[in-house]
Amino acid sequence: MQPLTCERVAELTDGVGLEVVPADLRSAVLEHASTCPTCRALLARLGPDDDETGTAGPALDPPARFADRTLARLAEERRAAGSGEARPESS
Ligand SMILES: [Zn+2]
Repeated sequence: MQPLTCERVAELTDGVGLEVVPADLRSAVLEHASTCPTCRALLARLGPDDDETGTAGPALDPPARFADRTLARLAEERRAAGSGEARPESS
């Protein structure tokens, strides 16, 4: 899979968040964000892609927690992609 640039991530999420990113690209975005603090911060600022932050309490979602969830989500999507059909990861 081709790594995304920060510019591309910003373009894809387009001020709205991961909801607008196609599923196959989403894992690429998350993968990039897992290694890129800038994009991780960008995604965090765009808002949660689930409702967890809504119940997290005051002000700030700690970046470490967001990273954890990002990585968990990534692993989950990988598992999902690998389970049903045999999809070539990269060739
Ligand atoms: Zn980046």
